[in-house]
Amino acid sequence: MATKPFASSADLVPKDEVFVELAEGVYALTAQGDPNVGAIEGEDFLVCFEARATPVAARQWLAKLRERTDKPVRYLVLSHYHAVRTLGASAFDAQTIVAHEQTRALIAERGEQDWAGEFGRMPRLFTEPDSIPGLTWPTLTFSERLTIPLGGDRGDLELRYCGRGHTAGDIVAWLPRQRILFAGDLVESQAALYTGDAFHDEWASSTLDNVAALGAEVLVGGRGAVARDRAEVDAAITQSRHFLNVLRRTVGNVHAQGGTLEQAFRAAHTALAPRYSGWPIFEHCLPFDVQRYWDECDGVDWPEIWTAERDREVWAKLR
Ligand SMILES: [Zn+2]
Repeated sequence: MATKPFASSADLVPKDEVFVELAEGVYALTAQGDPNVGAIEGEDFLVCFEARATPVAARQWLAKLRERTDKPVRYLVLSHYHAVRTLGASAFDAQTIVAHEQTRALIAERGEQDWAGEFGRMPRLFTEPDSIPGLTWPTLTFSERLTIPLGGDRGDLELRYCGRGHTAGDIVAWLPRQRILFAGDLVESQAALYTGDAFHDEWASSTLDNVAALGAEVLVGGRGAVARDRAEVDAAITQSRHFLNVLRRTVGNVHAQGGTLEQAFRAAHTALAPRYSGWPIFEHCLPFDVQRYWDECDGVDWPEIWTAERDREVWAKLR
C-alpha cells in the first residue's frame, strides 16, 4: 500500500456549513463531516454545546448564532475532552464550563498531547491556532446527570452520562420536551467513527443502548447531517453500532488467531471500506481505531496516550 498523507493533513478545503433551528431556540451548525456544534436558548441565557478547535473558529459560529439571539452564554457544555471540541472555549465568555468528571481528568492527564496530536492530524480545523490561550478547564463537573432548567415554558436540558464510549467521559445533551439529542461523538451520522481513545465493547453495547433508550426524534451527532426523524435517528445509531461491531469482529478475530496488527488493519479495512470509505475521515481514523481495539484485545483498559510520535509510528506501520 502506498504511503498516504498523514491523517487529514492534506485535507485543506473548507467545508460548507449549515445553520439550522431544530425547534424554537434550539440551534445546530453542521459542516459536511467537520465537528458539529449546537446551542439552546434559556429564558435569559444560552447553553452552547461544544467549543470548536480555536477561539477564532468558535467566533465564526458565534457570529451566526448572534444573528438569532444576544443572550449571554451561561453554560458551555463540552461533550468530551478532544481538542477540536474544547480549545475554542474562551470565545464564549461562558459563566460555567460543564463536562463529565472524567473529561476534566483526561484534560489534566493528556490534554497537552491531545492538542499537539489533533493539530497535526487535522490542521484545517485550527483556524489561527495562536488564538488558543491554553487548555480548557471545566468549572463544573458531574458523574451521572445534571439538569439545567431553561426557564419559562422551555423545559429542561438534561446532561447525561451514558457510559464509556468514544472516550471515558462522553456526555450527551438531551431536551426531553423537544425530544432533541446532541449526542457528541457517541453517534455519527454518515461520518466515520474515531475510536482511538474508545472503549469499544461498552460503546457498542450498553452505552449505545442508553443513548437509543432516550427515544430522540431529532439527533445531532458529532459529525454529519442532523437526523430529523425517528427513522434517521435509528439509522445513525445503528450505523455507529455497526461500524464498531465490524471493527471488533475483524480485529478481534485476527488477534485471537495470533495474527499481526497489520493483518488486523487489512481485515478491518476490507470489511469496512465498501460501506464507509466515502465518508468523512474514514481513512484518517482507521489506523488509530484498529490500534486502540488491538490494545483492548491485549487487555489495555485505559487508552494509551496519543503523542505526536506515536501517531506517526502507527501511521507509518499501517499506511
Ligand atoms: Zn472526539
